[in-house]
Amino acid sequence: MHLKPTDLLGLYIHIPWCPTRCIYCDFNTYIDGDLDLKSGYQAALMREIRETGAALKRPRLDTIFFGGGTPTTLSAEQLVKFIDVVKSSFDLQPNAEITTEANPGTLSLEYLQTLRQGGVNRLSMGVQSFSDYELKFLSRLHNSREARKAVENARSAGFDNLNLDLIFNLPQQSLDQWQFNLDEALKLEPDHLSIYSLIIEPGTPLYRQVVQGNVPQPDDDVAADMYAATMDTLGQAGYAHYEISNWAKTDGELTWQSPELASAHNLIYWRNQPYLGLGAGAYGTVNGQRWANVKRPQSYIGRVDTGAGLGLARDEETVETISPEIAMTEHMMLGLRLVREGVSAQEFEARFGVALETRYPQAVAYGLDRGLTEWIDSPTGPRLRLTPSGRFVANQVVVQFMD
Ligand code: SF4
Repeated sequence: MHLKPTDLLGLYIHIPWCPTRCIYCDFNTYIDGDLDLKSGYQAALMREIRETGAALKRPRLDTIFFGGGTPTTLSAEQLVKFIDVVKSSFDLQPNAEITTEANPGTLSLEYLQTLRQGGVNRLSMGVQSFSDYELKFLSRLHNSREARKAVENARSAGFDNLNLDLIFNLPQQSLDQWQFNLDEALKLEPDHLSIYSLIIEPGTPLYRQVVQGNVPQPDDDVAADMYAATMDTLGQAGYAHYEISNWAKTDGELTWQSPELASAHNLIYWRNQPYLGLGAGAYGTVNGQRWANVKRPQSYIGRVDTGAGLGLARDEETVETISPEIAMTEHMMLGLRLVREGVSAQEFEARFGVALETRYPQAVAYGLDRGLTEWIDSPTGPRLRLTPSGRFVANQVVVQFMD
C-alpha cells in the first residue's frame, strides 16, 4: 500500500542519549557525554529528515514524536531546530501534535518555554513513581519533588496537553503503595496517563538481580489487582480508558470513541497507519515495508553520510514486506488494544477485501464465547473490542488472530 495524500502520517525521531541507564531499560540508549558524537548525530538526523521528506515528495504529516532515550538531553533550541527542518521538508499540518518525552529532573521553566514557543504542544514526562524509594530502586535520577516542580513549570510554560508515565508492579510494591502513586499523579491533574506494568527484560541489570535471587519476581496476581485499581481510580476521576495502558481526561460522554486528548501519534500506530522512524534504531512502516535503522549512533552517522533517499540508514536485515496476511493480523493485534473504539468491521473489509468474521471466525468466536470481546454499534457500523475483563488477558485474545 503506497502512501496516499489522504493518509495520516506520523514521524518518530529517536534521541538515543540518557544521563545514566535505568536498571530495567532495554531501549536503544547510550550514556550522554560524547559531545562530538552527539553533534555528529544531530547533523545526521537533520539530513535524514530532509532526505526522507524529499524522497516522499514532501508528504502530509500529522504528528511528530521525539522519543528515546531522553530527548531533553538536547537543548530546547536543538529540538526546535528539528521541528523547523521537519516543517521545511514535510507538509506539517497546522494542528499537528508535536510531543517530546522529557525527564522531569531537567525541566526548567525557561527550557519548557523555549520548547512550547518553538512548537512542541504535548509533553510526556517519565515520572514513573512518586515514591523516592521506588525511583531510587529504578535508578531514575529525579525525585518526586522535582517531578511535581516540572509539572508546575510545564503548566506555567503553557503546556495544556501533558502526559505522565507511571510504572506499576515493582518488586515488593504493595497495592497501597501503587494507589499512593495514582493519587499523587491525579493531584497534578495531568491530561493523559500512560501506565505500564514493569517488565523484567532479559539483558537488563534488573533481570540479572531477579535471576540471582536478589530481587523477587513481581507477582502477576498483585499486578492484576493494581490494574483493576487503576481502572477504577482513573475512571472515577474522569479519565477515559482508551488503550490497554493509556487514559485521557475527558469532559463529555463518550460512547465508543477514543477521547480527544488521546495521543494522536500513538493512535497512528494502533490504527495500523503509516509512520516514519528516523534516528538510530528507529522503526518505521511506509509503502508496504517496515524496517529499522542501524542501531549504533556511530554506524547511523556513517550510513547517513554516504546514503541517499528513503531508508538511507536502514539495516537491510530488518527490512520486511508487509503481506496482506501480516497486515490483517497486525490490524487486529493493534486495533484490539484500543479498548473503546476497537476494530471497525467496515474499515477492515474496505482495507483487506474480506469480512472480519469471514477471515477470523474462530478467533472472533473465542473472545465472544468467553466474554472477553464484544461487538458494539457505532455510526460506521459494528466494532469488535475487548470487554473490561478482556483487558486483563488481552494477549490471550489477540494471539488467536495469529494463525
Ligand atoms: S530514561 Fe528511559 S530510555 Fe533512558 S535509561 Fe531510563 S528507561 Fe531507558
